[in-house]
Amino acid sequence: MVKMPDSMDECIYFTRRVFDNDGKAIAWVYKKDCPKCGKAKMGKPLDPKTKKPKIRADTYECPACGFSEPKQQHEESLMVEVMFTCPYCGMKGEATTPYKRGKFEGVPAYVFECSGCHKKIGLTKKMKSGKSKAGDDAGDDDE
Ligand SMILES: [Zn+2]
Ligand SMILES: [Zn+2]
Repeated sequence: MVKMPDSMDECIYFTRRVFDNDGKAIAWVYKKDCPKCGKAKMGKPLDPKTKKPKIRADTYECPACGFSEPKQQHEESLMVEVMFTCPYCGMKGEATTPYKRGKFEGVPAYVFECSGCHKKIGLTKKMKSGKSKAGDDAGDDDE
């Protein structure tokens, strides 16, 4: 079972998508507990100047003990949780998929499968457009 986060602060990734035929999806990735001290959630290291998380960091860090992990290794240990309405069969369901982009119709995407019709659904990277709201795709910054 997946659980909707109470706050965006719990997540390193959060997105809402709309598909054809009234399909939609909300997807997120929870921050993980520090594997070393277990006292805090790993996140992007803070910029010493602004005290805000660095957008483009190569590592994730534990704010409590300073343990750090390379970005790729860290992200591949996490799961994307999805609540969706399938654009093909209309079923409402839940899914999880590794936090690692595969290919969906030739485009990098987090891909999951509808448990009703077993069709693949992709969360493709959002195009940067003036219409998208700021913060809509938090954490989705890797190129
Ligand atoms: Zn720690
Ligand atoms: Zn389906």
